[in-house]
Amino acid sequence: MLHQKLFFKDLLDHSSSKLELSETLETRMMPRLSKMINHDDKAGHILINALLKLNDQLNPSISGEIEADLTLTCQRCLGHIEWSEKIEYSINFINESEAQEIRDNVDYISINDEGITLLDILEDEVLTSIPMSIMHKNIELCENIDKLSMFLGSSDKKPVKKNKPFSDLSEIMGKDDN
Ligand SMILES: [Zn+2]
Repeated sequence: MLHQKLFFKDLLDHSSSKLELSETLETRMMPRLSKMINHDDKAGHILINALLKLNDQLNPSISGEIEADLTLTCQRCLGHIEWSEKIEYSINFINESEAQEIRDNVDYISINDEGITLLDILEDEVLTSIPMSIMHKNIELCENIDKLSMFLGSSDKKPVKKNKPFSDLSEIMGKDDN
């Protein structure tokens, strides 16, 4: 069901009958998420609880909770970091042909003739919940601290947040254009 391609009519049908589902997934079912996972260790799991129902505008909606239990890579020491999170979500769908009428409502995902896969959308929810620069809470928890402290000068201050590798690049490229 989560993996199936669904069209607006399917979503409408499932929502009309208030479809409820609970499914535990292996992370390899979510290819984009799978890339972020530290596969040396146990890869973790994703538990999806979902309820499809009609919203106030009688359009399909999906809501529920995703329990993510993942082994990610610390961005400071590249060691393993356990990340557990309960992600609450609520998404409304609308037929593309109607979407233009309520363009200012950003809470909708509009469905065109190509349909959607719910798994894709739920994967997005997980991906946006993972911190961009996930790392161990404290440098003492990092692996290979001895080597790291040589680089970091044994300071456990938070790294400077200006982490925009592409802004420098675009500056350089901008200069080339001139
Ligand atoms: Zn670390």
